[in-house]
Amino acid sequence: MSQATPRKPRLATVWLAGCSGCHMSFLDLDEWLLELADRAEIVYSPVGSDIKTYPKDVDIALVEGGVANTDNLELLHQVRANTRTLVSFGDCAITANIPGMRNLLRGSDPVLRRAYLELADGSGQLPHAPGIVPELLERVLPVHELVPVEVYLPGCPPPADRIRAALEPLLRGELPHLSGADQIRFG
Ligand code: SF4
Repeated sequence: MSQATPRKPRLATVWLAGCSGCHMSFLDLDEWLLELADRAEIVYSPVGSDIKTYPKDVDIALVEGGVANTDNLELLHQVRANTRTLVSFGDCAITANIPGMRNLLRGSDPVLRRAYLELADGSGQLPHAPGIVPELLERVLPVHELVPVEVYLPGCPPPADRIRAALEPLLRGELPHLSGADQIRFG
């Protein structure tokens, strides 16, 4: 009797409120991306797939960015509901980092007023496009404040070798154990 081929891990990468630098570092995996494409099925990714709807039954998701608006929040809940191992990918996902700097203004309304009225050239107006432009949340939040996270992968961005060090065990169905300044440093 022939044995069924084991299914490849289903991998997603997700872009919330981040600068995309973490995804650029993912692309810096260079030729190892070919091996990754062989060992995993890329089922959702802004840099690796054209699928717009987050799929079901995802094994591993790298989530870049903080949670800054209603679209981010909705996508994050879809990711959590359909993913076994969620990786908080980069400092913005782990601490809110750069997008979280707007939290100093204490609320979405002061942020919008600062950007569109106080710093405008005199003809500024507050944006208003319900249903088209997602509403800002009052604060930018790190991923783990909203949903459980299995793995933290720090760095701004995490260097490619650190991403690989996390993905290698994940592809084998194991949790990574990153240690030492080379692997767990912020910034
Ligand atoms: S952690 Fe750094 S590189 Fe990654 S999205 Fe945030 S600012 Fe960009």
